Amino acid sequence: MTTIETRTVPPRVDAVIVGAGFSGMYLLHKLREQNLTAVVFEAGAGVGGTWYWNRYPGARVDVESLAYSYSFSEDLEQEYPWRERYPTQPEILKYANHVADRFDLRRDIVFRTRVTGAGWDDDSRTWLVRTEHEDAVTARFLIMATGCLSTPKLPEIPGIETFKGASYQTSRWPHEDVDFTGKRVGIIGTGSSGVQSIPVIAEQAADLTVFQRTPSFSLPARNRPLRPDEIADMRATYRAYRKAQRESSGGVPVVVPTKSALEVSDEERDAAFEQAWESGSLVNLLSTFTDFAISQEANDTCRNWIHGKIREIVRDPRTAADLCPEYPVGTKRPCLDTNYYETYNRPNVHLVSLRRTPLVEVTEKGIRTSEREYEFDAIVYATGFDAMTGALTGVDIRGRDGLSLKETWSAGPRTYLGIGSSGFPNLFMITGPGSPSVLSNMIVSIEQHVEWVAGAIAHLDREGLRAIEATPEAQDAWVAHVNELAGYTLYPKANSWYMGTNVPGKTRVFMPYVGGVGEYRKKCDDVAARGYEGFSLIA
Ligand code: NAP
Repeated sequence: MTTIETRTVPPRVDAVIVGAGFSGMYLLHKLREQNLTAVVFEAGAGVGGTWYWNRYPGARVDVESLAYSYSFSEDLEQEYPWRERYPTQPEILKYANHVADRFDLRRDIVFRTRVTGAGWDDDSRTWLVRTEHEDAVTARFLIMATGCLSTPKLPEIPGIETFKGASYQTSRWPHEDVDFTGKRVGIIGTGSSGVQSIPVIAEQAADLTVFQRTPSFSLPARNRPLRPDEIADMRATYRAYRKAQRESSGGVPVVVPTKSALEVSDEERDAAFEQAWESGSLVNLLSTFTDFAISQEANDTCRNWIHGKIREIVRDPRTAADLCPEYPVGTKRPCLDTNYYETYNRPNVHLVSLRRTPLVEVTEKGIRTSEREYEFDAIVYATGFDAMTGALTGVDIRGRDGLSLKETWSAGPRTYLGIGSSGFPNLFMITGPGSPSVLSNMIVSIEQHVEWVAGAIAHLDREGLRAIEATPEAQDAWVAHVNELAGYTLYPKANSWYMGTNVPGKTRVFMPYVGGVGEYRKKCDDVAARGYEGFSLIA
């Protein structure tokens, strides 16, 4: 036994789980229910994963609280007192902590401990998992519950280390309050994290300069406190709602569109967009018509309509023009905001388009573009993540015959169902590349994967089998299917973290599965029902 802080790490468990976010917590609970032993390693000092790390001002979820919550415990969903339509990061973190306490999870979680590597031993059919503290734990199963957006990425700009003021990264925000009062602040990045934090920082800072390379489409969240009657209604119908979530396309039930954007009159189309805009719901916007994801012409109608909204809100025409994205709506993750576009009407907020004046370097005093140097007291980097694969390839995972996951995936991730990868027996990924994951309400996808993986382990144990591994043929077919579906859509038209293009050197390939969570769940269930078709089951 080795001891870290006050935790004792057992030398041998059924499963090592990496990460104590929403995936890792539910996995631990689920495996315990099956009388399996598990240890969770978590790099942070607390549970909550993405909600533990992303503490930047204005951080909120963009799926409604009553839908972005666990469904596995009816008591939990009936009792948990959600307060807002779109809860803040502290509120979601409180929920994660409540779940950890309620299900007594902490006793099997080792905090402040990063997993550095894992090697498969084919003779004993086990993984040997190593941590930064040099623990060595043997496990039958290695389950990566490491999240899709958890490996932060700083911009590749020379001079970052030379800046003499304060530097912050949205995804690694300090735990103590940051006060920008009276400060000149620069922020780089206008994805969801930038869009959420810019209005809040603008209210405090003396002056805020936003450095934008690519604008985002953003919809007003229209956040508000939840009414007691809507909470009561949801609690009365939760079972049916959860079923609808699981069968939906994105993990949030919506009225399925029946018309093309091109077959209706301009008035009908505008009215539909206006209704979606007023509803404060991204899924409503993306499902106004049948063909946004597949027809450039249909998508253009939505893009042009949103451009009109931006021009209506933002008073300075040049700023408004710079804020209008040119790629198809939805092909980069759209954002949900509170006062984002309005913020550019404030006299203390300035937008610098890096398309017009590219970033050159960070200096001792601030940021230099091709046009001039801007001086700041603080710089905020809202520059995103090495998405979907970064946390997986960041661990030195060696499968059969020492095969490296990182090297095997050098031309893009290769998985079967986004759950397993050929050459890596008994390695499971929760919401891995090749599954719907980031294109869905994450909690719906997390629960589906956790339950599928727990079922697969139960199957092996029942049958007296020791290992499960994706076959190369099934994996090739799945990768081809994922790519084929993506090829029918407009997604590959934009450079985005879905495509890996935000990370220099990363292969350009669309990583999530676009078929929808309902269809995907059926496929996974069919695979299990056919005796884990496409996997080798090994004695
Ligand atoms: P992101 O969407 O990847 O945005 C990063 C931003 O930084 C982009 O505007 C990017 O520009 C810019 N950038 C990166 N490198 C740069 C460089 N070298 N020079 C100039 N600009 C640079 O990251 P994010 O905002 O953290 O969001 C990531 C995802 O996390 C979201 O899409 C969403 O799925 C999730 N998220 C969700 C919420 C929510 O639920 N409300 C909140 C935050 C995040 P380019 O686009 O040109 O690369």
